Amino acid sequence: MINASLTELRRALDRRQISSIELATLFLDRIDALNPQLNAFITVDRDGALAAARAADARLAAGQGGALVGIPLAHKDVFCTEGVLTTCASKMLANFVSPYDAHVVNLLKAAGAVNLGKTNMDEFAMGSSNESSWYGPVKNPWHPERVPGGSSGGSAAAVAARLAPIATGTDTGGSVRQPAAFCGITGIKPTYGTVSRYGMIAYASSLDQGGAFGASAEDCALLLSAMTGFDERDSTSLERPAEDYAVALAASAPGAKPLAGLTIGLPREFFAEGMADDVRAAVDAALDAYRALGATTVEVSLPNAKLAIPAYYVIAPAECSSNLSRFDGVRYGHRAADYGDLADLYSKSRAEGFGAEVKRRILVGTYVLSHGYYDAYYLQAQRLRRLIAEDFRAALTQCDLIAGPTTPTTAWALGQMADDPVQMYLSDIYTIAVNLAGLPGLSHPAGFGAEGLPIGLQLVGDYFAEARLLNAAHQYQQATDWHLRRPACAA
Ligand code: GLN
Repeated sequence: MINASLTELRRALDRRQISSIELATLFLDRIDALNPQLNAFITVDRDGALAAARAADARLAAGQGGALVGIPLAHKDVFCTEGVLTTCASKMLANFVSPYDAHVVNLLKAAGAVNLGKTNMDEFAMGSSNESSWYGPVKNPWHPERVPGGSSGGSAAAVAARLAPIATGTDTGGSVRQPAAFCGITGIKPTYGTVSRYGMIAYASSLDQGGAFGASAEDCALLLSAMTGFDERDSTSLERPAEDYAVALAASAPGAKPLAGLTIGLPREFFAEGMADDVRAAVDAALDAYRALGATTVEVSLPNAKLAIPAYYVIAPAECSSNLSRFDGVRYGHRAADYGDLADLYSKSRAEGFGAEVKRRILVGTYVLSHGYYDAYYLQAQRLRRLIAEDFRAALTQCDLIAGPTTPTTAWALGQMADDPVQMYLSDIYTIAVNLAGLPGLSHPAGFGAEGLPIGLQLVGDYFAEARLLNAAHQYQQATDWHLRRPACAA
C-alpha cells in the first residue's frame, strides 16, 4: 500500500479494501518509525489527520467521492495551517500557530485530503540543501549522508521514503524541482500565478509559486489539479478556471508513438559544460527514450540564461528583505527576552530569530535596494530578467517543450557546501531562469548516478503548458520504470 499510486489508493478506498483511517495510520506509523532518522517532518498532526480521515470515511460512505478524498498528504511548513504549528523552519516562528489556512491548504481540505503534518525545509525557503532549517537538516532517503535538496527537502524526502504519498512544496528558484531530482521523485512548479500565495509565507513574492510532489507525473497531476484556481486574496493570482491536469494524460497503445509531433528543444547552454558525467549520461538516455516515443529534438539557445543566478541573487534578496521586515518581535514570532528601547527589541529579536543564511539575504537585499545602488543592481537585474524571459519565448517558438538536466550534479554530502554559499547558489543554474520567466517546470526521475543517487530531467513549457509537461512525463513513465524505484527504507 505505501508504494501504491494515487489511482490505486483511490480504487482501494472506493472498494473499501482499506479505510482512510487505516491508510492515515499506516503512513503516521511510518513517520513515527522513520522520521527520527530522516527529519522530514517538523510537526506530525496525528489527531488532526485521524479526524480528517474519519470525515473522509464518512464522505465515502455517503457516496461522495473525489480524486483526493481520504488520501494522506503532507504540507511544506511554509503553508499556514489553522491550529497547527507553522514555523517556516525558523526559530522566528517556532511558536507560531496560524489562525487561518493558506488557500492551498483550504482547497486540499475541501477536496477531502488528509494532512499528516508539516514538512521540514530550508529556513524561510532559502537554500538548496535543507541545511538552513532551525530544526536540523533532512537526510536524503537514498543515502544517509547526502542532502535531499532544498528548500522543500522535507516534502521530497517524505514522498521518496513513502512517509506520505504526495506533498506540497514551493519553488522560488528551484525548490520543488531540485529536491525532486535529488530524491528520485516527480515535482512540478506551475506557471507563476496559478497557485494562490495566500497563506504561503513570502520569500520573494514575484518568484514564489506553490507546486506538487508525487512519485509520478500522474500523482502530481492529481494533486496539482486540486491546488490551482483563482483566489482574489492573492493579487497575482490568475483569473483562469482551474484545470483538470489528470484528464490530459493520454492513454497510449503499447508500441504506439504517443509523443509523435512533439518537438523538444535542447538549450545549447545547458549542455555545454558544468554537468557531471553521470548526469549527462542519464539525461542523454532519457532524451533517447523521448525520441523513441516519437518526439523530435532540436537545439535551441538561451543566451542570457547564464545571467540568471546573478539576477536572481539581487531580486530574491531584495524582495526577501522587504517581506521579512514584518518579523519584528512585536506582532508575532520570536521576541528577545531582554531589551532596552524599541530599536533594541527589533534588533535583538531579529538577531536571535533568524539564521545565518536568512540574515545574509536580508543584508544583501537591503544593500541592493538602498539609495545609490538601486539603479546599479536592482534595476539592472530586472532588465536581465526581461532578457531571460525573452530568450525562453524565442526558444519556445521553435519547440513545444524545453528539456535538460534539473541539476548539474546528484545530491552532495551534508555539510559539503557549508562554508561556500556561492557554490550552493550556482547549483541552481538550470532551475532559476524558469522562475525569472514565470514559466512552468517539471522534474522527473531519469536514472541513477554514482553511489546510486537519483538524477532528474527537467521539462520546461510555455505559460499554462502544465498539462503538456505532465503528459510528456507521463508517457515517459509509461515506458520506463525509474519513477517506481524506491530507496531501501521504502522497498
Ligand atoms: N535555492 C534557491 C534559493 O536559495 C531557491 C529556493 C527556493 O526555490 N525557495 O533561493
